[in-house]
Amino acid sequence: MPMLATDAATAVEQKALHRFQKDSRGFATRAVQAGSPHDPVTGAVIEPISLSTTFAQTSVGSPVGEYEYTRSANPNRTNFEHAVAALENAHYALAFSSGLAATSVILQGLATGGHIVSISDVYGGTHRYFTKVADAHGISASFTGAIEDDLRAMLQDRKDTKLVWIETPSNPTLSLVDIKAVSAIAHEFGVLVVVDNTFMSPYVQNPLDHGADVVVHSVTKYINGHSDVLMGVAAFNNPTVNDKLTFLQNAIGCVPSAFDCWLAHRGLKTLHLRAKAASSNAHAVALALESSPHVLKVNYPGIASHPQRRIAIKQHRNGLGGGMLSFRIKGGKSAAERFCAETKVFTLAESLGGVESLCELPASMTHAGIPPEVREKSGVYDDLVRLSVGIEEEEDLVADVLDAIDRAIKPKSGSGSITPDSGIEA
Ligand SMILES: *Cc1c(COP(=O)(O)O)cnc(C)c1O
Repeated sequence: MPMLATDAATAVEQKALHRFQKDSRGFATRAVQAGSPHDPVTGAVIEPISLSTTFAQTSVGSPVGEYEYTRSANPNRTNFEHAVAALENAHYALAFSSGLAATSVILQGLATGGHIVSISDVYGGTHRYFTKVADAHGISASFTGAIEDDLRAMLQDRKDTKLVWIETPSNPTLSLVDIKAVSAIAHEFGVLVVVDNTFMSPYVQNPLDHGADVVVHSVTKYINGHSDVLMGVAAFNNPTVNDKLTFLQNAIGCVPSAFDCWLAHRGLKTLHLRAKAASSNAHAVALALESSPHVLKVNYPGIASHPQRRIAIKQHRNGLGGGMLSFRIKGGKSAAERFCAETKVFTLAESLGGVESLCELPASMTHAGIPPEVREKSGVYDDLVRLSVGIEEEEDLVADVLDAIDRAIKPKSGSGSITPDSGIEA
């Protein structure tokens, strides 16, 4: 009977081999080449998809190569992890079946029986995990809307704090957190800092370089970038963190398929081109929105009016703002709904980070589960529209947004007079 070496110690020993060397080449070179060896037998430039679930052994305990069973490790997953480690300036990266699977493993591995401090406008699914699932592992969570100011007192108050969780920029109001300042305080108390870097992608921001201990991504968004893979990844430098998370990756089994790893790796190779294009398109859209008389407010960290522009300049590559923005349209919820129905290039849909542009209404869609008083405190009003700006032609995107605003604000001829229900939050 063939042996399936699935025992955890084996997996950890095996993964200890996957301590990736830091790669000092430019970002684009790393994106294209890290974790992309030519096939040593055929010379294939692109790695084959390794669908085999098991790998032959020559004698008991001596696998032919470095792989034994696909849950523990798989060539496509290792190569993808290598590439992400290279882009986040990390020695280690681990891929998971979704962003939330990565989050759950990090919590179980690093915070069991303890307390975590999180920013309040964290991703909705992360918030749900913190408040409705994590207590199964004895984890409690506290939230703050001003983490730089509140963290020290919160850590003094809760000596059992094990993790600080931040997301910068936040969703959907794009407010920023100073990673370096937060990490310095957390480290005084021996507490690890996790940064969800999904919105910026490793091209725009590298949290480990600013002092964070773990960076996590929903690969589903920018890293894969083509809206056709669900996956998560975490990257870090600490070998103890690696042992704990590698053990759980295998022991829980929330791993991505070889096919998805291969697809996400293909997407990652053009991350720098996509992130640059999305960022410059979003910048143009943000400026156009800001000059529209029908827009109350634009949230975009790439423009001067962003209240934390200073943080973007020191934390983001070339001060880029990324591809995400949100804005409040005049005319309240109904104008916002009409806007989303009127766009022709932007598709009304949840999610983000793909090559195609999307729009959505957080208060009615991604953030509908949060009570209005709570979400309005962090700026999520009924008239707030979120855009994931893709890599289409800049002038088409700008024209689409301005035309849709016009149609949302002005009544269609023949449809009677629609007075914008202004006064809702104006
Ligand atoms: C989508 C998302 C997640 C969750 O990732 P999944 O891949 O959907 O599980 C976590 N954080 C942020 C910021 C996200 O946008």
